[in-house]
Amino acid sequence: MTGRAGILDGKALAAQLHIELTQQIETLQPQMGRPPALAVLMVGDNPASLSYVRGKERACEKVGIASVGKHLPAETTQLELEKLIHDFNQDETVDGILIQLPLPSHLDAVALLSQIDSDKDVDGLHPLNLGRLVRAEVGLRSCTPAGIMRLLAAHEIDPTGKHVVIIGRSTLVGKPLALMMLNANATVTVAHSRTQNLEAIARGADILIAAAGHPNLVTADMVMPGATVIDVGTNRIVDETGKARLVGDVDFDNVQKVAKWLSPVPGGVGPMTVAMLLYNTVWSYRRKLHP
Ligand code: NAD
Repeated sequence: MTGRAGILDGKALAAQLHIELTQQIETLQPQMGRPPALAVLMVGDNPASLSYVRGKERACEKVGIASVGKHLPAETTQLELEKLIHDFNQDETVDGILIQLPLPSHLDAVALLSQIDSDKDVDGLHPLNLGRLVRAEVGLRSCTPAGIMRLLAAHEIDPTGKHVVIIGRSTLVGKPLALMMLNANATVTVAHSRTQNLEAIARGADILIAAAGHPNLVTADMVMPGATVIDVGTNRIVDETGKARLVGDVDFDNVQKVAKWLSPVPGGVGPMTVAMLLYNTVWSYRRKLHP
């Protein structure tokens, strides 16, 4: 293949979704008597987490979702967090609860995630919502994989019958995405750090998704000409001049010469993840009127 891949512009699509959500909130608010509300629980001062939380709060503000989150000191205990989650679960004016990960090591994230009311679990990580995904039942879906599915759908890239290769098997991205792709009738291969012959497996993909957290893991010779390549990786690298920038897992410049479609970093999956968080919050808000 010659030429350049089309760019799967997550930033533009997210902006469009923001407008749709703003309109939906304007319609629903008179009936609900309040705006939707999202509670983000952030513990400690991890700089990357702080910037993600700020980004989520700014996006909420843009579409008319109230942020009622809490920023807690690093020494917050498991019990204190459980109490906060319990209070947000009971609060009828809160539609979504999100725990910003990673948590400091003294806290048990899995136990806390399980305590969130599954109808307010806007990150889609509660065991009940993951179970609903396994069974292809209606439920809140994890934001990053749901954002990838939206990005593909918006460009009329249908996974039906296609070989989808996902590099990464995390509970946050790889596993739920594999299930969403199966539910969308793809033939799915999940590769990971112990996979042998990754290059050959990747080359067999019609849709290749890199979610490993390794810069330049996917090179042009690993991509089938005409494939769709989605880059989930978010890696902060510092160049010779000391300047930091974000790069994905894909060698963008060279893969762009081979692939038909390619998502950039930044501006691809990242903005879609935030858009799906807002979407989930509005979904859970709307379900109070139309269960
Ligand atoms: P993780 O560390 O939990 O999982 C990484 C996965 O990649 C593991 O399953 C591991 O087996 C696999 N892996 C690692 N090195 C590999 C290699 N050399 N070959 C094959 N497989 C390999 O990470 P995660 O939470 O799933 O996130 C993955 C990446 O996606 C990270 O860079 C993260 O920052 C990014 N991310 C981005 C968004 C977004 O919104 N853009 C959201 C979530 C995660």
